[in-house]
Amino acid sequence: MNRILAGIIFLLFISTGYISFLVHDRQQELQKLTHYTTSWSAVQLVSEYYRFESWLGLYTIDDTMQLDDVRLRLDIMLSQSDLMKQGDLGQYIVSSKAHRDLAVQLENTLDYLDAHLEKMNRPELQTYLKKMHSLDVPLGRLSSGALDKDINSITRTNLKIKTLYYIYSATSVLLIILSAILGMMIFYQNKNIRTAHLQVKSLAEELQRSKEKLQIQNTKLEYDVYHDSLTEMNNRQFFWDSLNKQIETAQQNNTAVIVMLFDLDRFKEVNDTYGHDTGDMLLRQISDRLKLMGLSTDSLYRLGGDEFAFLSRGLTENQAVSQAQKIADTINQPYSIYNTIITITTCVGIVISDTERRSDYLYKFADLALYEAKNEGAGKIKVFRQWMLDKLQESRTLEHDMAMALANKEFVVYYQPIVNSFSREIYSYEALIRWIHPLKGLLSPDSFIPVAEKTGMINEMGKSMLEMACKEAATWAVPVKISVNVSPVQLSSKTFASTVLSILKETGLPAERLELEVTESALFSESTTPMNTLNKLRALGVTISIDDFGTGYSSLSRLSRIAFDKIKIDKSFVHSISTHEDALNIIRLITGMAKSLNMKAVAEGVETQEQLESLQALGCDFAQGYLFSKPQPSVDSKIRNG
Ligand code: C2E
Ligand code: CA
Ligand code: CA
Repeated sequence: MNRILAGIIFLLFISTGYISFLVHDRQQELQKLTHYTTSWSAVQLVSEYYRFESWLGLYTIDDTMQLDDVRLRLDIMLSQSDLMKQGDLGQYIVSSKAHRDLAVQLENTLDYLDAHLEKMNRPELQTYLKKMHSLDVPLGRLSSGALDKDINSITRTNLKIKTLYYIYSATSVLLIILSAILGMMIFYQNKNIRTAHLQVKSLAEELQRSKEKLQIQNTKLEYDVYHDSLTEMNNRQFFWDSLNKQIETAQQNNTAVIVMLFDLDRFKEVNDTYGHDTGDMLLRQISDRLKLMGLSTDSLYRLGGDEFAFLSRGLTENQAVSQAQKIADTINQPYSIYNTIITITTCVGIVISDTERRSDYLYKFADLALYEAKNEGAGKIKVFRQWMLDKLQESRTLEHDMAMALANKEFVVYYQPIVNSFSREIYSYEALIRWIHPLKGLLSPDSFIPVAEKTGMINEMGKSMLEMACKEAATWAVPVKISVNVSPVQLSSKTFASTVLSILKETGLPAERLELEVTESALFSESTTPMNTLNKLRALGVTISIDDFGTGYSSLSRLSRIAFDKIKIDKSFVHSISTHEDALNIIRLITGMAKSLNMKAVAEGVETQEQLESLQALGCDFAQGYLFSKPQPSVDSKIRNG
C-alpha cells in the first residue's frame, strides 16, 4: 500500500513537472508567432522597391517633378534595404545563395543610384530603370517565398500548440485520475488507520485489564506467601519476617523480645478419632477465637499443624505469662463441631530476652520451653531458663554416650514377672531395659528411651533387647512367656515384622512365647504400617498387649479393629485404687471391656496386698508389681532350671 502511495505521489510530481514544462513550451511556441516578421519585412521591402521604381519612372516622364522627391524615396529605400541584413529577414536571406545574390544585386543597384542620382539625366535614369525592372520578379519571388516560409512556420507552430494542448489535456486528466486515486487511497488508508487505532485501543484496554488481573493475582500471591490457607492466619514465613522486625525495634528501644509458641495437646488424637475435617474445623475455630481477642494482627501466627505463635515486645515475665494464659484460656474453651463437643488444651513455651538478638536462637529457646511444658503435661506454660539449654546439651552428650554404650554392650535386660492375680503363678516375664553406665551406674529407661526414640537409635536398641530377651527365654526350663516393650518408632518401620521373625528363628523361641507390649499412641499413626505389622505377627502366634492403657485416647472402635490379647491397666490407676473412686470405676470399666472383647486384663504397678485384693474383686486376670517382684537381672531359678 505504502509503495503504491509513493508511486502515485512520484507520478504526480512528474506530471506536474511535465505540465509546467508543457506550459513553458507552449509559451515559447506562441512567442515564435510574434516573431514571424520575415514575410512582412520582405513585403515591405519589395513594395517600397516597387514604389521607388514608380516614383523614378514618373520622374523620368514628368518634368514638373523635383529630383528631391526621388532622393527622399531613394533614402527611404536605402534604409529599407538595411532590413535585409538584420532580423528575421536577414537570416532568411542568408539561408539561400539565390537570396544572397539578389540582396547583393539590390544593394549594388541602390548604391549606384545613391552615388549617381544627381548626376544622371532623365533618359539615363530611364535606361537604368529598365535594368532595375530585372529585379522585380526575383524580389517578388523572395517576398512570396518569405510569406510561404512564415505560413509554414505558423502552421507548424499551430500544430505543435495543438499537440501540446492534447498532451496537456491528457496529462491533466492523468493528474486528476491520480489525485482521485490518491484521495481514495488516503481515505482507505485513513480507514485502516482508524481500524488500527481502534485495535490498538482495544489492545491497550485488554492490556490494562490483564495488568489489573495480574496485580490482583500478585496481591493474592503475596497474601498466600504470608498467610495460611486453612485459617487465613499469618504463616511461618510471616512469623520469621515479623520476628526479625521485632528484634530490630527492640534493639533500638532497648526492650525485650517475647516469643511464645503454642502447641495443642492431643490434637493428633482428635484428628484420628473424629477425622481430619473435624481437626481442620477445630483449627479454624481456634484461629477465629484468636482473631476475636483483639490482639495486634501481626502478633499471632499459625506456624503449621497445631502450632501457633505470639510475638510481642517490652513485656515483663509476669505480663508475658498472663498474656500466654489468656490466649491458652481462649483456646481451652470447649468447641462444638459437627454436633460434638471437643475440648482441647495447649502447652506454651515462652522466651523473654533483652540480650539475645538472634531470631533462630530465640525460636529455639521458646521451643525448648515448649518441650519442657509438654513433658510436664497438657495445658502447661513454661518460660525458657538456662537449664533447659544445658539439658539439651546433656541430651546431645547422652546421644553420643548411647551410641558408645550400644557398641560396648552396656545395655542389659532386667526381668519382672507378670503373675496370675489369683494363683500368683508366673505367667510371663517382662523384659525391661537397663543401662549400666560406666560412670553413672544403673540408669532407668525413662532417662534415655525418649532420646533414643528421637534419634532413631531405638530401632537398634530395641532389636538388641529383643535378641537378648528371646535368647534368654529360649533357655528357660519352664516355658513362660517373655514380654518385650516395643516403641512406636520401631512399629512404624516396615522391616520390624521380619526382624522379629528372624530373631525368633535364630533363638529358636516359639512365636507363642513372645508377647509384644505396645502403647496406644503407637496405633494412632497416619500410616497403616503398625496395624499391619501387629496383625501379621499375631497371625504367626505372637501375642500383643496394650501397655499403659487408660492414659491415651483409644476409642472403642479402634480397639476392636485390632485383635489384642491383653490390656495393661496403667499403674497410675492401680496406685489410686484405694484413694480415688474414679480409678476403681475406670479399672472396672477396663476389665469389663477386656472381657467383652475377649481379652485378658493385666494390672501393673501392684505394690500392696490391698491393691491386689481390689483387682481380684474386679476380676483382673494378671498382676505385676513390686508386691511380687521388682525387675531383676535374672529370672527365678525355678523358671530357669525347672
Ligand atoms: P512400662 O512398660 O510401663 O514398664 C513398667 C514400669 O513400671 C517399669 O519401669 C517397672 O520397673 C515399673 N514398675 C513395675 N512394678 C512397679 C511397681 O510396683 N511400682 C512402681 N512404681 N513401678 C513399677 P522401668 O523399668 O523404669 O521402665 C519404664 C518404661 O520404659 C517402661 O514402662 C517402658 O515404657 C520403657 N521401657 C523399658 N524397657 C524398654 C524396652 O526394652 N524397650 C522400650 N521401647 N521401652 C522400654
Ligand atoms: Ca511394659
Ligand atoms: Ca506400663
